[in-house]
Amino acid sequence: MAHKLVDSYREKGARKKLVQLLQERGIADENVLKAIGKVPRHYFFDETFWKQAYKDIAFPIGDGQTISQPYTVAYQTELLHIKIGDKVLEIGTGSGYQTCILVELGAQVYTIERQENLYNRTKQVLPHIGYQAEFFFGDGSKGIAKHAPYDKIIVTAGAPLVPEILLKQLKIGGILVIPVGDEESQKMITVLRVSENDFERFVLDTFRFVPLVGEKAW
Ligand code: SAM
Repeated sequence: MAHKLVDSYREKGARKKLVQLLQERGIADENVLKAIGKVPRHYFFDETFWKQAYKDIAFPIGDGQTISQPYTVAYQTELLHIKIGDKVLEIGTGSGYQTCILVELGAQVYTIERQENLYNRTKQVLPHIGYQAEFFFGDGSKGIAKHAPYDKIIVTAGAPLVPEILLKQLKIGGILVIPVGDEESQKMITVLRVSENDFERFVLDTFRFVPLVGEKAW
């Protein structure tokens, strides 16, 4: 995708409206809303589709994958309670939009994608539009043990269960956010690591993600 980095009053205005809409839909965290208001979501779209960029919808990004709906990105991000300097593992880089939101919040992001085309594309696009992260290619259902532990882990694809291996890669006090269910629908689950062996789970709203595909996912 060739990006002419044009972020005019038109896109900025559309972004402001999107932020208002997300607020109306229940997103309350000011920092998350600010981040959504800053990241030019239209840079993730082909210019032909720029008008779609600030609607609250998911959109195809090629290779059968989607850029998540802004509401979903905001919802998952809010649950992570990002603090500046948090080390975050993101499983399912996709377009990299969620990655940029995390970076905007001051996180140090390790992001992994299993589709080589997407990995290559996003790894180039993000620095080009001003966002730095650590990019990995491979099966993220196993996490990335080499760089563990993480303050936060976010899974942006639907899993049938919470992979145990991810829980082991959380710091004590760390949070995992993952949609869990079948291919039709998933419940958003957060897991807080309270101590070495104790975890608290919270089951939240229903979503529909593309499936997490991987060794530890099924
Ligand atoms: N967060 C992304 C964004 O903002 O555009 C959207 C991610 S998309 C809904 C889910 C992504 O997870 C897809 O790109 C898919 O290829 C990837 N994925 C699925 N299973 C995976 C796995 N085991 N490891 C890494 N990535 C995976």
